[in-house]
Amino acid sequence: QELQKYTGVVEDCCCEYETVNSLNGEVLHPLLQKLVRTPFFRYFKVKLWCDCPFWPDDGMCRLRDCSVCECPENEFPEPFRNSLEHNLPSDNLQCQEGKPQAIVDRTLDSITFRGWIEADNPWTSDDETDNSEMTYVNLLLNPERYTGYTGPSARRIWDAIYSENCPKYTSGEVCQEKKVLYKLISGLHSSISIHIAADYLLDEAANTWGENLEVMYDRVVQYPDRVGNLYFTFLFILRAVTKAANYLEVAKYDTGNHAEDASTLLLMKQLLNNPKLQAACPLPFDEAKLWKGESGPQLKQTIQRQFKNISALMDCVGCEKCRLWGKLQVLGLGTALKILFSVDSQNQPETSVQLQRNEVIALVNLLNRLSESVQFVHERGLLSEKLGKVQ
Ligand code: FAD
Repeated sequence: QELQKYTGVVEDCCCEYETVNSLNGEVLHPLLQKLVRTPFFRYFKVKLWCDCPFWPDDGMCRLRDCSVCECPENEFPEPFRNSLEHNLPSDNLQCQEGKPQAIVDRTLDSITFRGWIEADNPWTSDDETDNSEMTYVNLLLNPERYTGYTGPSARRIWDAIYSENCPKYTSGEVCQEKKVLYKLISGLHSSISIHIAADYLLDEAANTWGENLEVMYDRVVQYPDRVGNLYFTFLFILRAVTKAANYLEVAKYDTGNHAEDASTLLLMKQLLNNPKLQAACPLPFDEAKLWKGESGPQLKQTIQRQFKNISALMDCVGCEKCRLWGKLQVLGLGTALKILFSVDSQNQPETSVQLQRNEVIALVNLLNRLSESVQFVHERGLLSEKLGKVQ
């Protein structure tokens, strides 16, 4: 059974909710789940230090260069702290979720950079070519889920994102491009909230984790526009991935393990040339409609600047694991924006897009996160609505 509200075409996209759900369930979700577990896609290179460029250090970022789940101690659930005291020697490593193996893997593997360009992403604020302060993170050991990061620090970031950079468009908003930026951010926000709800700390004392469907209803499902924006963002990223197919099909997914790397390439090809996808939703989003008017180039610059600000705001996120996933997903969005808007496909062949290894990892992991969220809403949305309404 599905949520009845979500039928027809996803607003501003070219596919229907039902099509997205069946495509995702049958094809995309299973493929993406396998892809993100491959050695190529499971490590992400990231600068995790936070140097917030917008406001003075609010004490949230003091645990720099620590583990990936570096939340402000006072906001972090008690059981985590207790279990760590026994396992880890350093005072700095406070948020390891009791798993010493979750420590950042700092092995910079030079093999994995062969065959990939080094070029900065014009939409994001981090210099992606600056390796000096970057570390590798094993994403599988650091799942995006409830971390206890909440309160004024988290609220300030979302407020800054929405109020300064992508104010909610009015219903009469004519500027399609501004609407796109708002929807992308709102869709990402929905996805983050759904991951929090899907893997929630239900009982601090017993350290019990599980679904919290009330949270999903309260934050996402009760607002049809937030669900719509999630589907929109999923289709937008899917379009970017398929538009870059020529590039992604011949890219090097080498990590030194030939058998696993061959399987990564095969999975990538199955995703990019999927007959079911091509038949059911050949153009998930039509980017050719944007930047048409006279003010197109100027508008693009404005939106690029706004998106860069959003990207820089990720350095103000006070919980390190949230910052990790925030940075990854914003880079994924920035990569999609680069694929769809930085290459003038009328004058240049689509193969001219050049992507960095890290951009591709971010893009595919973002698509997977959105696919997980779409699947979760599809499977659990109705129940969450029932539970949410009787609260
Ligand atoms: P928030 O989610 O903080 O929302 C703030 C306000 O934004 C809402 O009151 C509403 O007005 C508006 N809003 C909410 N959702 C949407 C939407 N989809 N579209 C439009 N407007 C919306 N916490 C974790 O536990 N784990 C994480 O991995 C994690 N990652 C984060 C990553 C980033 C980049 C940020 C900024 C925060 C992250 N957080 C994470 C914190 C989390 O997002 C919430 O801020 C926190 O759980 C408090 O939630 P809240 O209910 O107060 O509302």
